[in-house]
Amino acid sequence: MAQVQDHRDSTMKPDANEKDPTFPVMAMDILSNVLSRADNPGDLGTYLTEEIRDLTGARCVLLLQCLNTEAVTAHRVVSVNPLRMREWAESQAENRLYECVHRVPAKQLWRGEEPAEIAGLLRGEGFELSMVFPLNAGEFRVGAMLVLGLPDEEHITSMLSLLDNLFAIVALVLRNAFIYEKQEQVIREREDDLRRITLFQRTILDNAPYGIVSTTPEGIVTSFNPAVERMLGYTADEMVGKQTPACWHDPEEVTRHALRLSEELGETITPGFEVFAARARRNLLEENEWTFICKDGRRIPVNLSITALRDEEGHITGFVGMGYDLTERKRAEEALRRSEERHRAILQTAMDGFWLVDAQGRLVEVNETYRRMSGYSAQELLTMRIPDLEAAEMAGQTAARIQKIMVQGEDRFESRHCRKDGGCFDVEISVQYRPAEDGSMVVFLRDITERKRAEEEIRKLNDELEQRVWERTALLQRKTEELEQANERLKEIDYLKSRFIASMSHELRTPLNAIIGFSSILLNEWVGSVNAEQKQNLTSILSSGRHLLNMITDVLDVAHIESGTIAPCIKEFDLYDLLAEAESEAATAIREKGVELRSELLRHRMRTDRGRLLQCVRNILSNAAKFTDKGSVTLAARIVSSFEATPGEEMVEIAVTDTGIGIGEEDRSRIFEPFQRIVTPKRAIVTGTGLGLFLTRKIATEILKGDVLVSSECGKGSRFSLRIPARLP
Ligand code: ADP
Repeated sequence: MAQVQDHRDSTMKPDANEKDPTFPVMAMDILSNVLSRADNPGDLGTYLTEEIRDLTGARCVLLLQCLNTEAVTAHRVVSVNPLRMREWAESQAENRLYECVHRVPAKQLWRGEEPAEIAGLLRGEGFELSMVFPLNAGEFRVGAMLVLGLPDEEHITSMLSLLDNLFAIVALVLRNAFIYEKQEQVIREREDDLRRITLFQRTILDNAPYGIVSTTPEGIVTSFNPAVERMLGYTADEMVGKQTPACWHDPEEVTRHALRLSEELGETITPGFEVFAARARRNLLEENEWTFICKDGRRIPVNLSITALRDEEGHITGFVGMGYDLTERKRAEEALRRSEERHRAILQTAMDGFWLVDAQGRLVEVNETYRRMSGYSAQELLTMRIPDLEAAEMAGQTAARIQKIMVQGEDRFESRHCRKDGGCFDVEISVQYRPAEDGSMVVFLRDITERKRAEEEIRKLNDELEQRVWERTALLQRKTEELEQANERLKEIDYLKSRFIASMSHELRTPLNAIIGFSSILLNEWVGSVNAEQKQNLTSILSSGRHLLNMITDVLDVAHIESGTIAPCIKEFDLYDLLAEAESEAATAIREKGVELRSELLRHRMRTDRGRLLQCVRNILSNAAKFTDKGSVTLAARIVSSFEATPGEEMVEIAVTDTGIGIGEEDRSRIFEPFQRIVTPKRAIVTGTGLGLFLTRKIATEILKGDVLVSSECGKGSRFSLRIPARLP
């Protein structure tokens, strides 16, 4: 409350009623009247201002409360009479009005001489005559009473003493009332705060995922939150005020902890609540893993931390324990441990060697496989760096390649490492680089010594093989060249032979013609008669000569064809005429033997070598005649289609079928070779050179561009057919 100096206002007239002994009694009466009606400080003001107004006849009475503590000025309007003036009182004018009132040291009567800053304000309301009574309780200013718009000065002066007495008591009453009100206010605020804090704590306790238990300093449970209810299966009702933490702790574990703690703190801690409280009591961190025993007997691992609760003086008022269930974490840790163990076991027994290398290239972990490869022990390897393990010729390449992999992401390469015993082995290195925070890398090493050796072996074998192939190829080439040369020589010899035969045959024919001619003249007795014996001899000379001539003609033909000196003589003719000619030539000989000659001739325009075709037909027809003694010989011709023939190219087949002695399968291929005759008793008497079919096939293939085929059955007959294109280009 604002402190004021009490000094009398010199402008006030001396109070005439000052000494009237009835005034204190009247003042008490008024006040007791007011107090009997009022229930609270607000009402007190209302009734008081009403009494003062009645008493003074003022137009308005204001009761102000001085709110400011120290030097700061602040007032509030407690009550106004009449009530309708309240708005005015609380209006914008109030600050100036109250400030003035605050500065007034003792009661003052304003007869139009009020301070300039409120003069307009009061006059404006018609308050010409006003009084201000500061309300002081001891040295504190409680407030002020403003009596505005007094009817006349005399009237107020007559009751100044009464008012002085009254306001002296009012100040005391108000002071107490205000203090009371203020205290109530503070209590209300404290209660609100407490409620808020309690709610806050409750919310935390109810929703905390941790189990929270508080106890008295002796260990009796004072709170047991829902999380710990869930954890242990006990309810707060079962615990609070009734149990201590011993209820859910394992006594053996508590005893063990007690021993350990006693040793640690250097004083005996008896197994009991003190085991939990001892460290917290000494302001030491108390956090441990405990086994909690649930209501249903389950045992769960719990991390428990304990704190002492202290009051403002530092005395312990209790303890709080916070615990969380470690079951899940333990399970996860166990799973992780097992999985790590498994991985480690896999790595240890893996086919490949394994390194864990730190960022400086030092080996941090090595598996059994690599130890076996290198011959070093794990202890030795763990003091080594990558370059220490390489073969000398690698000269630090492994580490460089691993670095490169980290930059370029290349995944594997080959290297050579040395063993402890000085030997070497080849490895294929692959790196699984995970940019781990510490820069460590996982490196796998596969022993490829065997593979390398096999590759080398294969390479050598390949080289050898290549060398051999090369040698063989060279040999083959040489042989081919030799063969080609031999072939050339043979061709030359063959050509010379054919030339020789051709010219020799010609030379032979001339004397033969003479032999045949003259023996024929003699036999016909054109130059005189000959006897029977001479006739027989001449007949022999003639037939031998003819045979020889035939043979020479055939040999000559063969030689001509083979030497390539024969030019086909192609012309147009009718096939019918050619066949008729051949048929008539053979007819006599066939019919003389009593064999039937049949013909199925075909009229067809041909364009080929007529002479050579006729020669072929004559040959096969004369053979049929020679080797058929009964039955028939058939000469037939027809147009055939041929797979080899190009469209528009007609093929003609001229076939001679007989019912003669036939040819055995074993002989069928031989009959087309030169000078091959089948010698059997049946054929003995038949004359021939053995060149006929050879020549026929040569002509058919080389001049007529066709072929000659045979089908035959021993004792039943044969069929020789010529297949040739009807028209040669
Ligand atoms: P040759 O001058 O002996 O007839 P070929 O070359 O014409 O010579 O015939 C070879 C042989 O084929 C003959 O000696 C004969 O034994 C056999 N031959 C040929 N044609 C017939 C046929 N139509 N029937 C049975 N045998 C045949």
